[in-house]
Amino acid sequence: MIRLFEDLPVDAGFTCKPLDGKVYRDGLLETSPVVRLSLVHGCAVAVIRSVDPAGAPGFRADMDEDYLDVYDADGAVTDLPGVYLSTTHGDCIPIWVCDPVRGAVGLAHAGWRGTLSGIAGNLVRTMIRAYGSDPADLRAVIGPGIGACCFEVGPDVAEAFTDRYPWAEAYVYAHPGARPHVDIKGINAELLVLEGVTQIGISPHCTCCEEDLFWSHRRSGDTTRMLAFIEKRKA
Ligand SMILES: [Zn+2]
Repeated sequence: MIRLFEDLPVDAGFTCKPLDGKVYRDGLLETSPVVRLSLVHGCAVAVIRSVDPAGAPGFRADMDEDYLDVYDADGAVTDLPGVYLSTTHGDCIPIWVCDPVRGAVGLAHAGWRGTLSGIAGNLVRTMIRAYGSDPADLRAVIGPGIGACCFEVGPDVAEAFTDRYPWAEAYVYAHPGARPHVDIKGINAELLVLEGVTQIGISPHCTCCEEDLFWSHRRSGDTTRMLAFIEKRKA
């Protein structure tokens, strides 16, 4: 287990082997309701206002025991204490944000499609809109997730990044005679910087290389997932 923001009144982390992230998530339900995001590889971020089917205005949602399932969103923010936000990961990048001043937290799942569509920026803008967050107060963590070492893509994917974000050329590594590699952690970090976030930690862990620590869809077709989670603690 990798724990985050241990100096803040939050419970946040990322599960590692041998834990099964979904089983760990069931365990979280014993203390608090859990928001499950449906992961559609888009850029939508839900604001969680209550733990009931109307709790994510603008999104379809329903309850399954103490799970609030929110559909069509890869990210969520909340200022409710005692509610977990959660996403599952098999190489895609988790992005956490905490606003210790406004008492709000956020979490997003960014695969290459979500990264390209700018979910990292939308996560920050949603914090600003919903809670009046100052980006300078936000603390963000990116990854663990697939690193540039292993994220080999087709030329069309590499081009999609540099077409949309000309500065992303710095994060696309051409290998003559081979397929390009893309640093999607770096692109997500840049997207946060563009929104004014200055406090950003980037995990060096690559889920694809580090077989002892992580399940990886790309490396082995694993269907077991890591869980990223964050809860603002009850006062
Ligand atoms: Zn790697």
